[in-house]
Amino acid sequence: MDAGGIGALKGVGKARLEALRAAGIEDVQDLLLRLPKEYIFFDEPRPVSRVTCGEKNLLRARILQLRTGFFSGRAVTTAKLRDASGEIEAVWFNQSYLQKQLEIGEECFFYGYVLRRPDGRPRLNCPMRFPADSKGILPLYKPIDGVPQKLLRDLAKQALEGSRVEEILPDFVLSEHGLPGAQEGLHDLHFPPSREALNRALARAALQDLLLFQLAALSQKKSAQKGAAMQTGRVVVQPFLDALGFPLTGAQERVLDEILGDMASDTPMARLVEGDVGCGKTALAFAALYAAVQNGFQGALMAPTEVLAGQHYDSAKALLEPLGVRVGLLTGSVRAKERRLLLEELNNGELQLLIGTHALISEGVVYHRLGLVVTDEQHRFGVRQRTNLERKGNAPHVLVMSATPIPRTLALVLYADLSLSVVDELPPGRQPVRTRLVPESRLEGLYGFLDGEMERGRQAYVICPLVEETTEMDAADAEQTCALLQKKLPRRRVALLHGRMPGAKKDAILRAFAAGELDALVSTTVIEVGVNVPNATVMVIENAERFGLAQLHQLRGRVGRGAEQSWCFLLGENSERLRFLCSTNDGFEVARKDLELRGPGDFLGVRQHGALDEGLLELAGDGRLLQSSREAAERVLADPQEEQNARLLKYARGYMEAKGYVFSQN
Ligand code: ADP
Ligand code: MG
Repeated sequence: MDAGGIGALKGVGKARLEALRAAGIEDVQDLLLRLPKEYIFFDEPRPVSRVTCGEKNLLRARILQLRTGFFSGRAVTTAKLRDASGEIEAVWFNQSYLQKQLEIGEECFFYGYVLRRPDGRPRLNCPMRFPADSKGILPLYKPIDGVPQKLLRDLAKQALEGSRVEEILPDFVLSEHGLPGAQEGLHDLHFPPSREALNRALARAALQDLLLFQLAALSQKKSAQKGAAMQTGRVVVQPFLDALGFPLTGAQERVLDEILGDMASDTPMARLVEGDVGCGKTALAFAALYAAVQNGFQGALMAPTEVLAGQHYDSAKALLEPLGVRVGLLTGSVRAKERRLLLEELNNGELQLLIGTHALISEGVVYHRLGLVVTDEQHRFGVRQRTNLERKGNAPHVLVMSATPIPRTLALVLYADLSLSVVDELPPGRQPVRTRLVPESRLEGLYGFLDGEMERGRQAYVICPLVEETTEMDAADAEQTCALLQKKLPRRRVALLHGRMPGAKKDAILRAFAAGELDALVSTTVIEVGVNVPNATVMVIENAERFGLAQLHQLRGRVGRGAEQSWCFLLGENSERLRFLCSTNDGFEVARKDLELRGPGDFLGVRQHGALDEGLLELAGDGRLLQSSREAAERVLADPQEEQNARLLKYARGYMEAKGYVFSQN
C-alpha cells in the first residue's frame, strides 16, 4: 500500500488536515484502515410500530409536529413522526436550528437509537436525517469534528483508488472460507455493493484480525522466559484453607490444584480462571497469593475499580493478616505521603501483598521480588495493562480471573496465550435468583414488591442502560427514574449513581449502599460489576433489551449473594433473549446463547479487550469465525517455515506490537 500523504487528497485543506491528524489519521493507510463503524441499509426501513428498543432503527416517516423548548439551559427539539403503521417521538438536544430546517409534512429517513422512556413509550434519540429518496448502503464513519461524513467517504474513495493492498492471508484461508482478497475486501468494507459482499468482506476482516491476534499470542507463549518454581504442596496453603471458614467446592479444589501445579514449575504460569459470578474465585486468588508469600515472594492483585480493590483489600486484611501477611492498598486516591511509605515498604520487601487498581502499574511502583500477579475481572483491562504489570517482576506467575463465563471457543481465541481453568460449581446453599419479565401493566405491583422487601430490611438495585451517544439524556432519564421511584416509595432512602459523577462521590454512595444506609440504588452505570452487597435481594433492569445476555447475567449476579431468596426483574420487550434469561441461571449457558445470538463482538469483555478490533467483530457477528480462526492458526503454526505462513507470522508480530503488545526475545 502506498503510504502517501493525505494533504494531497482533494477536499483536504489546512484546517481539515489538522482535524484528520488530531483524529490519528496521518496517511492514506490510516484512512483506509479506519473502517465504517456502521452501515445504513436504505432498502430496509422499519415500520414505526415495530421499532426495536435498545437498538438503532432506520425509519421512513413524516414529520407531524415540531416543537423546541428549553430545559435547564438546553434546547430540546421534539418531533412527532408518523408512517402508515404508527407514530413515535423523536428528540434532539442543542440543535434548535432544526426547528427551521425541518418542515411539517416532510418525509425523511431517520436513523438513531430507540429507547423506552421512563413512561414506557419508545423514543427515537437524536436521529440523523436523510432524504426520502436515499438508496443502497451508506457507510457511517466514526465522526471527526470538522470533517463531514460525506468528505470521509470521498477521502476513502480517493485512498482506495490510489492504493494497492497486499495479500497477507495464505491461499488456503481464502479458498476454504470463500473470502474476498485483500483489495476487494477493503473496497467492499468502505463501499459495499450489496449486503452479501459486505458480509463476506466483514468475515474476511474479522478472520484476519482473529488469526493475527492468535498467531501473535501463541508464538509468544512458546518463547516464555524461565520463572520461579515454588513449593506449593497442600501443606503450604493449608493454614489459609483452615482460616477460610468453609470447605472449598469440588471445582475450587480442582482449579486450586491446577494453579498450584503451575506455580511449582519454572515455566511462568499464565492461567485464566473463569467461572460464574459467586463461584468463589477470590478465595482461589488469595490461596495462590498466600502460597507465593510463603515462598518469600510478593504478590499483586489488580482490580478494575477502587470499590472492588477496596473490597478485596478488606477481605485480604481479614483473612491473611492474621496469618502474618502484610497487605497494602494502592489506588489513585491514596495520598502522596501514604503512597510514599507504601512504596518504600514494597521496595524493601516488607509489604508482601499489594492490592489496588491500575495504580499498581504506575511509574515508581517497584517490587522487591514479585512472584505472582493476579488480575481480577480481566476483561476490564487492556492487554497492555496486564503485560505492564507482569513486567514489574522477573517473569512472575500470572493468574487472570474473569467474571464472565466465556464459551470455550471464544476463550481459546481471546486468551490464546493462557491455559484455561473453569470453576463450574457454586458453593452449596445458594438459592438461584428468580428472574421475571415485567410487563408495563405490572409495574405498580413491582413497586409494592420492592416496598415489601425493603420493609424486611432488604435492598434493591435499579439499573438504567447507558447509551454513549446521549449521555445527557441518560443522566436525565436516570434522574427521572430515581424521582419516580422515590415518589412511589416515599418512606425509602433512594439514591442515584451515574457514570459522570466524580469518583469520590460514586464511592461514597456505593459505600453507603453497602453499609445498608440506602434502600435502593438507581444506577446508569455498569462499571461496578463485582460489588458484593449480600443484603441486596432485588435487581430491576430498565430497558433490559439494551443489554447483552452476558451483561444481564452479570448484573443479576449482584443479587443472590446472601441466604435470602433474590429476584431479578427485567423491564423490556417480551423477546426470546429475555425469556431465555428467565429460564436459566447458568452463566455458561447464557454466554453460549449470547455468542450465538449476537456474535463475539457484542460479548461483554471483547469490547474492552483492547487488542481486537471490536467494531469488526461486532459487525462480523458470527461465532463460527472463532472456530475457523483457531483452526487456521493451528494450521499455520504446524508449518511455520512454509513461505506464506512465515510471512503471515512475521506480520502478526508487527501487527500486535502496534496494538500495544510487548514481545521479548530470549
Ligand atoms: P466470584 O467468583 O464472583 O469472585 P467471590 O469470590 O466473591 O465470587 O465469592 C462469592 C461469595 O462466596 C463470597 O462471599 C465467598 O466468601 C463465598 N464462597 C466462596 N467459596 C465458597 C465455598 N466453597 N463455600 C461457601 N462459600 C464460599
Ligand atoms: Mg470476583
